[in-house]
Amino acid sequence: MVRLVKKIIRGKCPICGKEKVFGSKGNVFLFKAPKMKECCPNCQHKFEKEPGYFMGAMYVSYALSIAEMVTAFIISRLLGVPSDYILYLLLFIVMILWPFNFRMSRIIWMYLT
Ligand SMILES: [Zn+2]
Repeated sequence: MVRLVKKIIRGKCPICGKEKVFGSKGNVFLFKAPKMKECCPNCQHKFEKEPGYFMGAMYVSYALSIAEMVTAFIISRLLGVPSDYILYLLLFIVMILWPFNFRMSRIIWMYLT
């Protein structure tokens, strides 16, 4: 189980676990989206099994975003951030973390299916 979580966090291939799924992580400040490889260079596993395969990853991304926003909300309340700014803070955090959510949601989806 711990090994599986390590593979997901490191973004490794769900079949062989040796090569990374994404070629680049993307950068929100440079408007660069994460770039996914078509198949694993080691085991030739095709990551996008069929067109629309990653539609289900949207549900995973939604769950990740909600978890991040709830965590940020709790931390901001504990730190005493005025409630007028919390919405802007949450939106900022979601915008900053979208490349991470994009990568993690697809990788988790591949491991789930
Ligand atoms: Zn592989």
